[in-house]
Amino acid sequence: MKKIQDHNQEQICSTLGKKPFSMNKEKRYEILKILRDKNPNPKSELNYSNAFELLCAVVLSAQATDESVNKVTPTLFAKAKDPKSMSLLGEENIAQIIKSIGLFRSKAKNLAKLATIIHEKYQDVVPNDYNNLIMLPGVGSKTAKVVLNVAFGMPTIAVDTHIFRVCNRTGFCKGKTPKDVEDKIIDKVPDEFKKNAHHYILLHGRYTCKAQKPDCVHCEINHLCNSYKTNTFIECKERLMEKSKTKK
Ligand code: SF4
Repeated sequence: MKKIQDHNQEQICSTLGKKPFSMNKEKRYEILKILRDKNPNPKSELNYSNAFELLCAVVLSAQATDESVNKVTPTLFAKAKDPKSMSLLGEENIAQIIKSIGLFRSKAKNLAKLATIIHEKYQDVVPNDYNNLIMLPGVGSKTAKVVLNVAFGMPTIAVDTHIFRVCNRTGFCKGKTPKDVEDKIIDKVPDEFKKNAHHYILLHGRYTCKAQKPDCVHCEINHLCNSYKTNTFIECKERLMEKSKTKK
């Protein structure tokens, strides 16, 4: 079977001989409203108690699950809950504590370095400014936006793998790369949703619009989703057929 990339809706539709429908602002509003009604006050699933711990947890979560990060952070934060103590703990000790997660060597190096910078340059206060955050080791655009959004309540939308997938599948905001979507999405989200849109879409991707087997049949926004309309997913098609058989 020809492999179809999620992000290429035009290719999907042409392969299936269907027309994509356009995602206008009313549909985007409806999607966000439905996701908000489902979970009005979404929270990060990473455990943290201050902005510095959140920053460390988000750095550790690159290519790792929140669950795996939450397993190592209690020990890490018990020994170092602020930049000064993390800097003193040092790269090697950090690596020993976080060794169960992927890329632990480079992550330990980055945590030790960023802690030293925040201690020396920012007097132990995590900067609440995008340009300063992305200068820290191990902190890219996504991490900076998560920290600004979750720790400082700013209306930023970081695009991770879940958000990238949901945006392309639904047609909410199409793009070939996460950065591409990140650059466009902020203008497509109405102001009232900007603070929580990151979590609304992320949680939908994590629990319903999953990478391998999206639960299209039970998805609350399937009537607004381009992939559902075009029956993009074989799993989805099979389940729809099963459903129609059981109805007969
Ligand atoms: S209908 Fe399927 S592809 Fe569309 S958002 Fe829902 S789970 Fe994802």
